[in-house]
Amino acid sequence: MLRALLGAILAVSLLAGCTPEPTPDPLEPDSAQVAESLTSAIRLKSEQQFAANFATSTVGVALAEQWYSNLSQFEDVSFTAVSGSGQLQVTWSVPGQSTPSRETLSMQMAKVGGRTLILDRLASSSPPSWLFGRVTVTNVDEGTLIAAETVSESESKAWLKRLKDAVKVVKDAKLGSTVESWDGRLVVELPRTTSEYTELVDVDPTTSSAAAECESGAVHIVVNPASLSAPDPEGQALMAHEAVHAATASPCSKSGAWWATEGLAEWVAQEAYSSAAAQNEALVKNYVAHHGVPAALPADPAAEDRDAIAAAYALSGVVVDVCVDEMGRKDALELVGKLAKGTAPDAEKLAEILGWYQAALQKIAKS
Ligand SMILES: [Zn+2]
Repeated sequence: MLRALLGAILAVSLLAGCTPEPTPDPLEPDSAQVAESLTSAIRLKSEQQFAANFATSTVGVALAEQWYSNLSQFEDVSFTAVSGSGQLQVTWSVPGQSTPSRETLSMQMAKVGGRTLILDRLASSSPPSWLFGRVTVTNVDEGTLIAAETVSESESKAWLKRLKDAVKVVKDAKLGSTVESWDGRLVVELPRTTSEYTELVDVDPTTSSAAAECESGAVHIVVNPASLSAPDPEGQALMAHEAVHAATASPCSKSGAWWATEGLAEWVAQEAYSSAAAQNEALVKNYVAHHGVPAALPADPAAEDRDAIAAAYALSGVVVDVCVDEMGRKDALELVGKLAKGTAPDAEKLAEILGWYQAALQKIAKS
């Protein structure tokens, strides 16, 4: 059958004369055809048409079911072929998202009976969570929760409530121009495993309970599965912290001063939750008792242990707190917000802030 087809094509090209049209390779997978069919299947809400683009093997069927189930819960889903590479680019949005998410996926495809079929997906770097398995997408006015199907209903409910609470906390904090481009919504992902979490956000899972990551301009908050059952108000404070990162889009501009980015998030969380404030106060007291008053503003303690990281976050909160005391809430939050977003700091102002910070820590050391 194949041999006859090749023979026929060869004969056609020979007959076409000295300037034959380039003939498509009958064996080369046609990823453009697959992309077009998948896009129209999603638009037509036809699971059958969607599945017809996948091999009928166990892997192919499972992949088709998972992708259809997940993608049909998103908006504006489309596929395009990345020419000549066997890759597909998938675009999708959640309600209210101004910039769609986009991912390039490497696929194993083959032409079977003249039709290109997806056999499997190949490994891709930092894949979206819907690629790991089935997810449940819940949309509310305040945002979207994307939960792995392994997450229990009660846990999903708890995080959806925290999502709503965090939107209110950030709005009530009145962060001014720092959050002017925020749409007032949060996208929160609850992955199934620690390795999935690590792949999604690229941070050490032993030292982070949640992280905010920049996904093509949109910030997603991802919760470490180890913190899924965190009690409130700890869970609420965690979400409020990450919500500040989302609202200021700080993960999308990593050039900001570390203490300003983390201090602002920590300060908003501790203003809203007194238990977070008490915990940070204890961390600061303990730090000063052991290390004295630091010579510089807090910096990213990336390679250090869990306690050092917790202390650095609490100390950053102190810096924001002293700025608020000295400059007034509005001006202080405006300045910290700018520094968090990467505005180069004025050396004189920084020296002044360091002085306030050291004086505050001296007071704590004596108390
Ligand atoms: Zn943070």
